[in-house]
Amino acid sequence: MKKVMALSLGEVILKGKNRHRFIEKLIKSVKRNLRNLDHGRIYHNMGKIYVEVSGDNEEKLINRLKHVFGIVYIAPTYEVETNWETIEEAVVKIVDETLKDHPEYKTFKVKTNRGDKKFPLNSMEISAKIGGMVLKNFDIKVDVHDPDFFVYCDLKKDTYIYVDKIKAHGGLPTGTNGRGLLLLSGGIDSPVAGFLMAKRGVLVDCLHFHSYPFTSERAEEKVKKLAEDISNFSGELTFYSVNILDIQKEININCPEDEMTIISRRFMMRVADKIARDNGYDCIITGENLGQVASQTIDGLKVTDAITDKIVFRPLIGMDKVNIIDIAKDIDTYETSILPYEDCCTVFLPKHPLLTPSIEGIEKSEEPLDCDKLVEEAIGKMKIEKIGGSDEE
Ligand code: ATP
Ligand code: MG
Repeated sequence: MKKVMALSLGEVILKGKNRHRFIEKLIKSVKRNLRNLDHGRIYHNMGKIYVEVSGDNEEKLINRLKHVFGIVYIAPTYEVETNWETIEEAVVKIVDETLKDHPEYKTFKVKTNRGDKKFPLNSMEISAKIGGMVLKNFDIKVDVHDPDFFVYCDLKKDTYIYVDKIKAHGGLPTGTNGRGLLLLSGGIDSPVAGFLMAKRGVLVDCLHFHSYPFTSERAEEKVKKLAEDISNFSGELTFYSVNILDIQKEININCPEDEMTIISRRFMMRVADKIARDNGYDCIITGENLGQVASQTIDGLKVTDAITDKIVFRPLIGMDKVNIIDIAKDIDTYETSILPYEDCCTVFLPKHPLLTPSIEGIEKSEEPLDCDKLVEEAIGKMKIEKIGGSDEE
């Protein structure tokens, strides 16, 4: 009897002709995320991926597999030859383990999925037979409507018996949907935005703006930690770090106070646009959300977008803050995001930012600035490093 982690693939298996490419990418992601952990063979069989367990590290395996996009759930499973003796052994073992963990369980139901259509019994008959094995060995009852737990049986060339289905994030395998440049602040929103786009298969790299020495090195460390959290899902990423202080000073001296925020945001977008063009990114990603703060009005977003021809994805645009926080907690970025260090200099922020900027109005206010030169200088001093993908725990 072999212990495996059975991975259900959800959307990936619906992908028609591209199916093979998706499954290959997914196996690659699984291998990458399990690097330096003991495990056996990884293989694909009729719509599921299986990872052989070798060693006493199931929890670690599960935790790493939860970080692989494209997996909908993970089932710790016994794989046996398809014959009644070995199937019974596996059923008894898994039910025994389940009842040890949950002595309160009194009822069960068997669900069978018959992949081998030539097998002489149909799935109802197989379920009945397995149900009989459970009843013979344990003092529990069948409840077909509201059981305490399910015993699942996938009958293929080999047979797979499992009880737990551990939920993962689903989505599409990393690298199946182009490359994106995420504007990553130290806040709650942008890490979530990066996660959501990465979940759709986009390979996400991060661009961060700081105002050192007005902002601290700890603020930068905090943002790098957030980038690392994203890399736990999608693998090693590039982290671009740009000092925006000189630009902020120039805006502060030359532009109307209430336009400080929107003009700074346009500079962030200019820098992002240049990096994206120079490095072949397909899209820019931000954590903006309609109406959450004063700069995030429809007019504000339009004026920011006018800087770039790249498509700008704002996956949080219609979400409520409570939902964004739920995701941040779920992906473990929340505790880092609420650390109190400022990521960009707030000294210059206006008390009453302009809510309804127009492109013409803002362009006029920017006239005294040499935008190209400011962007070039900022990018000239940019630091680039790789984050994540190391073998350390
Ligand atoms: P967040 O929680 O992501 O910081 P926010 O609600 O605080 O978002 P803003 O501060 O207005 O909103 O920022 C909106 C978006 O602009 C951010 O989600 C992020 O994508 C980008 N952004 C803001 N500050 C920075 C920064 N210092 N570096 C990189 N991107 C930034
Ligand atoms: Mg912010």
